[in-house]
Amino acid sequence: MKGITILGATGSIGISTLDVVRAHAGDYQVVALTANRDVERLLAQCREFAPAYAVMADPSAAARLAGQVQAEGLAVEVLAGSEGLERVAALPQTDYVMAAIVGAAGLLPTLAAARAGKRILLANKEALVMSGHLFMQAVREHGAELLPIDSEHNAIFQCMPQGYRAGMDAQGVRRILLTGSGGPFRDIPVEQLAGVTPEQAIAHPNWSMGRKISVDSATMMNKGLELIEACWLFDVGPDTIEIVVHKESVIHSMVDYLDGSVLAQLGNPDMRTPIAHALAWPRRIDSGVAALDIVTIGQLNFERPDLQRFPCLRLADEAIRAGGTASTILNAANEVAVEAFLQGQLAFTAIAGVIETCMQSISFVEAESLDTILNADTHAREVAMACINSPERHTAS
Ligand code: NDP
Repeated sequence: MKGITILGATGSIGISTLDVVRAHAGDYQVVALTANRDVERLLAQCREFAPAYAVMADPSAAARLAGQVQAEGLAVEVLAGSEGLERVAALPQTDYVMAAIVGAAGLLPTLAAARAGKRILLANKEALVMSGHLFMQAVREHGAELLPIDSEHNAIFQCMPQGYRAGMDAQGVRRILLTGSGGPFRDIPVEQLAGVTPEQAIAHPNWSMGRKISVDSATMMNKGLELIEACWLFDVGPDTIEIVVHKESVIHSMVDYLDGSVLAQLGNPDMRTPIAHALAWPRRIDSGVAALDIVTIGQLNFERPDLQRFPCLRLADEAIRAGGTASTILNAANEVAVEAFLQGQLAFTAIAGVIETCMQSISFVEAESLDTILNADTHAREVAMACINSPERHTAS
């Protein structure tokens, strides 16, 4: 029986994780569940999974949850805020931590899990993008185990040499082929991109995901963040990684070896597959995902990404090459710009412009400490907000 804390339990990944846990109730004990503001869903999850702890990042939501928990007589201790999140990521009775908070808010609790030496099931790529060197150092120093949940990185992990661990030198690997669907705007005329709506952007053709990552997929910033994530997870430079647009989302990524062998991982686009893989690793368990019907799929297509259409990919590539706090700034500016787009305050094509302006106007420094990273994050958010409020500052689109 393994104890599990699910950070971001009410989100798309959190819900899929609980689906897998529900199907293997004898193997996993839910120790803690967390959310930001969705009291109703977290309460329902507390009723079903009876965790020892429930955390709401938002203090007023935590107070509402505590009231409900008490009224129903549930044996759940309700905690609030960042301290609560960090505490449940490091509990002694927790063996596994699913890191599925969206965005920079996931960094501190995920880092707490690393420092407590847990098995981390990493969905929250932003945490690694923000703090790559520091985070991987914490994983190594505290003997944590890092298993990727992003379907691409999970696929790469599965195709890596046997016995491979995150951050290790992968002998014999020539290239990593990181696949991506190209999102909902892969084929629409470029001149129409400026007018696309949030509803169109979050309607991903193959995957059902949270709003932020859906917009990231539409700009292909998601692939850019994944490029950075892959560099840290697999200890390679960006030149070792080739991004390939594969619209069917059936091959989740590939590893090309020196002898000419290319190993690929295939499956239906359903996050329960990588979640079940990471939960049970090195065993295999049923994820509830239907068997892949390769004959019905019939054809798989591949092409190179169009950097004119997807400038966010270029910006992410520049950030990982620049090093230091460049990726932190990229990530923070992207989070602010995506939120502004979702709120109807920014055109889709201006997202890249805001990020580029931030990257050009803020100096990158060595990301030597958590304080440096958090300061860079805060500063980039301020610059991005100012930029959104004065459109003449983000002309690149
Ligand atoms: P969702 O938006 O669906 O869920 C986000 C979760 O994080 C919710 O539980 C939400 O709580 C919580 N949350 C949001 N803001 C905060 C905050 N400030 N503090 C604490 N908790 C917060 O996101 P996804 O599940 O889609 O994505 C989660 C992460 O997984 C992201 O980093 C994403 O990139 C990554 N990922 C997702 C994939 C997918 O298929 N969805 C695939 C690969 C990676 P509440 O519900 O209360 O708002």
